[in-house]
Amino acid sequence: MSSVWAEQLRIASVTIPMRQCAGCREKAPRADLVRLVQDGKETVRVDAAKVLPGRGVNLHHGCLDRALRTRAIVRGLRLQSGISPEQILDWPDQIPAS
Ligand SMILES: [Zn+2]
Repeated sequence: MSSVWAEQLRIASVTIPMRQCAGCREKAPRADLVRLVQDGKETVRVDAAKVLPGRGVNLHHGCLDRALRTRAIVRGLRLQSGISPEQILDWPDQIPAS
């Protein structure tokens, strides 16, 4: 590996924003995760554009069930009560290919 390539790789790895998935606790590029924000008292909304202010949790699309089971969303958003899948607005059927 040339040093130029190594430098490119280093730059790439520090400029991609990484977030921790609340379901599996692994780090992933922000673009690969779905961001949830609190939306009112008892509902949570998908922040598709990742621009909404406030506390958010990030999840792999496939980690929703796990995050619900472990109450990671409740803890992450400091919700007053538990949350069911019906209370999550705009959860995508699948992650759009990027
Ligand atoms: Zn995950």
